[in-house]
Amino acid sequence: MKSEAKTFLASQAWVQGAWAKDVLLTVAGNGTWQSVEPGATVQQYEGATRLPGPVLPGLVNAHSHAFQRAMAGLTERRSAGVHASDDFWSWRDRMYTAANRITPEQLEAIAGQLYAELLAGGYTQVCDFHYLHNDISGTPYANPIEMSLALVRAAQRTGIGLTLLPTLYMRSGFKATGLREDQRRFSSTPESVMRMVEDIQRQTKGDARINAGVAVHSLRAASPAALLELTGAAKAAGLPVHIHIAEQTQEVDDCIAHTGQRPIDWLLNNADVDARWNLVHATHATPAELQGVQSKGASIVICPATEANLGDGVFDLPAYAAAGGKWSIGSDSHVTRSWPEELRLLEYSQRLTLRQRNIAARVLGHESSAAGLFEAALAGGQAATGRLLGGLAPGQRADFVTLNPDSPALLGVPADHVLDALVFSSPGAAFAEVYVSGAAVTREDKANGVGDRLRESFQRAMQGLWQA
Ligand code: ZN
Repeated sequence: MKSEAKTFLASQAWVQGAWAKDVLLTVAGNGTWQSVEPGATVQQYEGATRLPGPVLPGLVNAHSHAFQRAMAGLTERRSAGVHASDDFWSWRDRMYTAANRITPEQLEAIAGQLYAELLAGGYTQVCDFHYLHNDISGTPYANPIEMSLALVRAAQRTGIGLTLLPTLYMRSGFKATGLREDQRRFSSTPESVMRMVEDIQRQTKGDARINAGVAVHSLRAASPAALLELTGAAKAAGLPVHIHIAEQTQEVDDCIAHTGQRPIDWLLNNADVDARWNLVHATHATPAELQGVQSKGASIVICPATEANLGDGVFDLPAYAAAGGKWSIGSDSHVTRSWPEELRLLEYSQRLTLRQRNIAARVLGHESSAAGLFEAALAGGQAATGRLLGGLAPGQRADFVTLNPDSPALLGVPADHVLDALVFSSPGAAFAEVYVSGAAVTREDKANGVGDRLRESFQRAMQGLWQA
């Protein structure tokens, strides 16, 4: 539905990598920025809606498995039994317990709560890397996108933008020919994934906030032939492509044992990797591999909180930044749901490893670590989504957040340090309002009680999942 242009006035807004004063922001009827004018005069203020606090662009959350929100806080105890120590693989066994119980209704309730929290955490678009395709017995639903539609409804109810990534998952490991019994819900083929993309596109036609791409779960989960078939079809259709890669050292070792190459090397040598590709994690990558990713124009999706929670390792930000590589951030398993926390953790993991300060500022060529991290994460959103979601500039979608200037983290902070305080003074400042396509999504939720209903549904889903 088209509407009239509307104009906002921000006393302080983040424009082209820096704070600007008295910014007049005009949203076109299609929800994109028509104009962004710093230094507006008093005469131009007339008719503009005055925004209450500093304004930042919304960020893309480039990696989410919505159902894993149901596990946050529930995998933090020592496991008994077969695993000698707690690691990614023992966590994955627990994650499968939730994956194999969850119904479409529960998924919608969990994703609804999650997406509301992600909006409150400053994200305006989320890429859901979605592999829970089949019913609990492993049979496709009568409507093969039943589970995908649960995510679509949750996004539409909250107002967040959604890039849905139906995921190819065909085998349990490099040597396997099929899936494990506890992976039966993930079963898919290149054809079924592309059919899901088409069905999602058809079902969401007319909703400009929702689009689709594809994902390949990982090199271990798809044969080379299937990976090339799906990503070739995605290229022909101009879709973004996501793949988990080099998250765990065991996966790297298995890939070398099976192919003779490290995972990123294998991918760059065998697949037609280009600027539509998003390599999720890339934790265990050599500087040469990172240089290779950059030379293809592809992006990396860093998920600092989940990588810390799962004990994955530390992403080599200095090497990737030295190569000039593009990246975005994702909250993945959703142990945190706010981008300032993700950016803080990314910087702190570097400081703890290198025993230095302000690593991001140095390697990304900014005065401020927060500004360097924020600008990089903002620039990575377009590759992750295939959409123009790059900040406060004409033609980009009008996604933005206003900060509450009365938040403790911002009290008394000079205007040009607001972003630094948002990222590095914890708990971070509250986002007062969140706008997607020029519409205030969080304010409407408060007014019509959507937030309360989402919380109630989420609680019921959690009871059904964990107290049954
Ligand atoms: Zn993931």
